[in-house]
Amino acid sequence: MCGIVGYIGTQKASPILINGLIRLEYRGYDSAGISTIEKDGLSVMKDKGRVKNLYDIKGIDDLTGTIGIAHTRWATHGKPSKENSHPHMDNSKTFCVVHNGIIENYNELKTFLTNHGYTFYSQTDTEVIPNLVHYYYKKDDKQDDLKFLRAVKSACSDLKGSFAIEVISKNHPDHMIVVRKDSPLVIGKGENENYISSDIPAILSFTKNFYLLNDLEFAVLSRDNVDFYDNNLNLIKKETKNIEWNASSAEKDGFDDFMLKEIYEQPNAIRETIGSKLNDEYKCEFDELNFTKEYLSNLNKIYIVACGTAMHAGLVRKKCY
Ligand code: GLU
Repeated sequence: MCGIVGYIGTQKASPILINGLIRLEYRGYDSAGISTIEKDGLSVMKDKGRVKNLYDIKGIDDLTGTIGIAHTRWATHGKPSKENSHPHMDNSKTFCVVHNGIIENYNELKTFLTNHGYTFYSQTDTEVIPNLVHYYYKKDDKQDDLKFLRAVKSACSDLKGSFAIEVISKNHPDHMIVVRKDSPLVIGKGENENYISSDIPAILSFTKNFYLLNDLEFAVLSRDNVDFYDNNLNLIKKETKNIEWNASSAEKDGFDDFMLKEIYEQPNAIRETIGSKLNDEYKCEFDELNFTKEYLSNLNKIYIVACGTAMHAGLVRKKCY
């Protein structure tokens, strides 16, 4: 799990991004980073540790870009470190990406890209994404308005797993592309500005109008517009949803209390946790664990380590034997 934020508008992006990250820190806090498009190209500032550490990075106050993406990380691939923190750039420093989720086939994609001359500087699964976008962008001979989107879409078609992704490019300083599959992402619509966040409360102080994205729908954000596309890149229409909650009820997603909210969150929590592991017959596959039948039949003890609700779930499991 992690938190992502994005901003495109007329104000300085960096304080808005950091403020959003602080509100999303409950989703992950081993490292954090932001990227903005400055006059001389993409700037990336990131570090290990809590979001507030970003304030100590030299030059962060001097950023003037009005478009940017941000991430607070909870590592799944690669230790918490500066190199592994998001955002990640492609080798040519043309594209910058933040990602919430897990790319299950990243090893395969890394090999493919390495064979095409790309180098990797982190241990994350995420770093394949900006490089794949670059690979497809370079391959595309057309020079029309959809070139950036086509490259992101082609990259996403190669990804297996879960992702909420934001992409910016120094070649397209007035656009940001976002897409999600089995990871959360909402788009907040303002006046001549648009916001991205992993959840509604983090940006509710900026806008009350939200677009919700379904799996594998793409949004191309500019300052005064958001265009939506399906997975075949056909334009689709979306209406905004007006969220009338105040900040405290928003944290409860409109429910009267946190307990009800958590009960209703369960289908989504399960989808986010094991959704990408389900095959077409809705059976769970954990191929990467390489458990053989023989290995499993030799197990004579299973330890379930848990607390709170998870402990009770563990006790139910124990009673089944
Ligand atoms: N898999 C990515 C990583 O380890 C993203 C993790 C997250 O969602 O925070 O960097």
